[in-house]
Amino acid sequence: MTDFPPYPSGLRLAGRRVLVVGGGHVAQRRVPQLIAVGADVHVVSPHTTPAIEGLVGSGEITWHQRAFEDADLDGAWYVMAVTDDRPVNDHVSALCDERRIFCVRSDDASLGTAWTPAVGRHADVTVAVLGSPDPRRTAALRDEIVEGLREGTIAAPHHRDKTPGVTLVGGGPGDPELMSVAGRRALMEADVVVADRLAPRELLGELPHDVELIDVAKLPRGRSAQQDEINRVIVERALEGKRVVRFKGGDNFVFGRGYEEVLACRAAGVPVTVIPGLTSPVSVPAVAGIPVTHRGVAHEFAVVSGHLPPGHPESLVDYDALGRLRGTVVVMMGVENASQIADALVAGGRSADTPVAVVCDGTMPTQRTVLATLDTLAKQLEAEAVKPPAIIVIGEVVRVAHPDAFPAGG
Ligand code: SAH
Repeated sequence: MTDFPPYPSGLRLAGRRVLVVGGGHVAQRRVPQLIAVGADVHVVSPHTTPAIEGLVGSGEITWHQRAFEDADLDGAWYVMAVTDDRPVNDHVSALCDERRIFCVRSDDASLGTAWTPAVGRHADVTVAVLGSPDPRRTAALRDEIVEGLREGTIAAPHHRDKTPGVTLVGGGPGDPELMSVAGRRALMEADVVVADRLAPRELLGELPHDVELIDVAKLPRGRSAQQDEINRVIVERALEGKRVVRFKGGDNFVFGRGYEEVLACRAAGVPVTVIPGLTSPVSVPAVAGIPVTHRGVAHEFAVVSGHLPPGHPESLVDYDALGRLRGTVVVMMGVENASQIADALVAGGRSADTPVAVVCDGTMPTQRTVLATLDTLAKQLEAEAVKPPAIIVIGEVVRVAHPDAFPAGG
């Protein structure tokens, strides 16, 4: 019997009783998948792992804290015998056979009447790989297929989403691995991609060749002229019936002028969606080993654009208030004005000894960190020839990350 392949079927378990006999690590892996499909999960086991207890505590599953009783099968549509006690699994699966309830066995899959596939999801498709006796192989195949779907190397070309409109996609700090799955999919489904210099550019090489790529760096210069041109292009292409992706570094709404594009689309009646990205003021320090918050050290962080110097008539930043802050100040686009910014923070009350880390080219092969204090920042930037893009992290979190460079705690 076991020589026949399994008959694949998608079980719709929402609201249906599923019995999991056993509360160990196998159950811990399976239960979340059952919750995700809406099943009414009952775990029977004298003990469970803390993770399963957590699901009980949050009311997502029911735990019967005792040994299995035959009546537990009443009303069950599907059963998992996943104890580490073989006779118990034997007993449960024998009873299931009698009652015609499909039963999965963790100790010996060949004895069960159902197998759990390696499952992956991509958009609205569920991928299930069944059949190899080696679970690592099934998992690897599943990963390969899901990855192919994500990257567009496996596609049903005539079925991809063709609804026209604009999608703002945040590409993260630069390393393509740090982009969201949703963002990647939107990119692969685009007819037109309008990309910035700081967007993860390696991904652009993977675009199908019929995709129109518009490089913003090549549009006419001048801040507003360029933005007007971007707004015009994305709206125009969407009105032609195309799917447009506006692709930027980090998150489009963090110093990315993303909302201006949203407004332009709305004004033209073009549907617009937003896929957030990992923003650099948080993620770039993180990859450099610096937390923006730390218990007992920083209970706040402020992200500031340094593109205008302190005191500039158009600056909206209150440097006096920032100088009084005890937490972390993260300055973006601040290399050029770093010296004046450091002075303004000290004038506002921040100690001149405050540790500073400047992370350049975050997540790129050329990434490096330059350490300084507010006092020495300008000198260090010059000595190290720091060029944008760089993130300037100011505050005691830098001392936490680099205790040797800033020994005298304070
Ligand atoms: N929307 C982007 C920020 C755009 S402003 C985001 O959410 O991250 C551009 C500034 O971001 C740069 O001047 C620099 O301060 C910072 N930046 C972006 N990517 C960076 C990176 N990989 N490494 C260092 N700084 C980066």
